[in-house]
Amino acid sequence: MPAGPIDPPARLLMGPGPISMYPRVLQAMSAQLVGQYDPFMTATMTETQALYREVFATRNEATLLVDGTSRAGIEAALVSLITPGDRVLVPRFGRFGHLLVEIAERCGAEVHAIDVPWGEVFDPAAIEAAVREVRPALVAIVHGDTSTTVAQPLEGLGAICREHGALLYCDTTASLGGNDFRTDEWGLDAVTAGLQKCLGGPSGSAPITLSERAVAVIESRKSIEAGIRVEGDPVRQDRIRSNYFDLGQILDYWGPKRLNHHTEATTMLYGARECARILLEEGLDASVARHRLHGGAMLAGVQGLGLEPFGDLAHRMTNVVGVRIPEGVVGDAVRAELLADYGIEIGTSFGPLHGKVWRIGTMGYNARRDAVLVTLAALEAVLRRHGVGVPTGGGTEAALDVYRAAA
Ligand SMILES: *Cc1c(COP(=O)(O)O)cnc(C)c1O
Repeated sequence: MPAGPIDPPARLLMGPGPISMYPRVLQAMSAQLVGQYDPFMTATMTETQALYREVFATRNEATLLVDGTSRAGIEAALVSLITPGDRVLVPRFGRFGHLLVEIAERCGAEVHAIDVPWGEVFDPAAIEAAVREVRPALVAIVHGDTSTTVAQPLEGLGAICREHGALLYCDTTASLGGNDFRTDEWGLDAVTAGLQKCLGGPSGSAPITLSERAVAVIESRKSIEAGIRVEGDPVRQDRIRSNYFDLGQILDYWGPKRLNHHTEATTMLYGARECARILLEEGLDASVARHRLHGGAMLAGVQGLGLEPFGDLAHRMTNVVGVRIPEGVVGDAVRAELLADYGIEIGTSFGPLHGKVWRIGTMGYNARRDAVLVTLAALEAVLRRHGVGVPTGGGTEAALDVYRAAA
């Protein structure tokens, strides 16, 4: 046989995602399949919807999973909400803001982007001024952008959008479960996520929630039922330009009609359900506090090693720390050695930060004291081999001080 069974090396994933899965999620994903309309299947879908309403802090009936990675959720939301020609405003502060622009353009939108330098967030007043000027049908924004490790405050944005007749979409993939997040309280109309960050699952399922206003837009663009266009019916010019990501059809599949669309990815459903169960068992606030504690210990640890953090610390995400690569050090060589000798993965950066910043995550299953301390100890050892004058035990001691202070 040319290929042996899958046997991945033991890794501690301390990058910006994916991270090592919760063992319970792994276990849930090894459960047997049932048929697409088996009462167990439909009941499991309904349970999962209820779980994600809690995770998103929403009462939105339209809460479900899009099958695909987080980007599938983003694309489903944008292609279903944007009618070609719509004006869309994207306040952009990192890589994933660029992705929103790219997808919105492909949806035929007239896209207006505003920018702040990477590592900073917007003053809500600047977004309000842009909304007044652009008069968009949709504002699309990222909550926590792992590419820059900062989170945009969203409070107040919903009210601004409502006042000016715009829908508000948010990508919360990187922040949900580890940072305070409130769909209804903040007036968000469409929110999408993924499992591979603070939710501690694999990539491949994109939880999404839609307000009644968002559902009304989607319903108004519905052109076909159950994927069948009646012969002779005219093709609507404003119909949703995707079949797979047509949230009108996906809602009919998850809703009481249970109209066939795709075959739900059963194994991902089991995984997504378990991720939500773990999060809600711990409690949303407790999970955010845990991410804040271990992210804070990691930040103190890298500072204790004499390294400089990247980005606006007042707005930093709890679950990922940006670290400036010391002068003269080849960032990718350090990462390669951490992986080869210690089995630990940390992240590189994109675009303007490439080669300048590492990103170290503490999220989901790996938002743990032992994972933080082992990573800091290994980083110290590797940095010393690369000629950096790091204080002995400086990282672990600073992290332990954070733990002692919190105890
Ligand atoms: C990690 C991340 C994603 C991931 O998208 P995938 O399609 O799952 O790779 C999306 N958005 C943000 C803000 C992220 O940080």
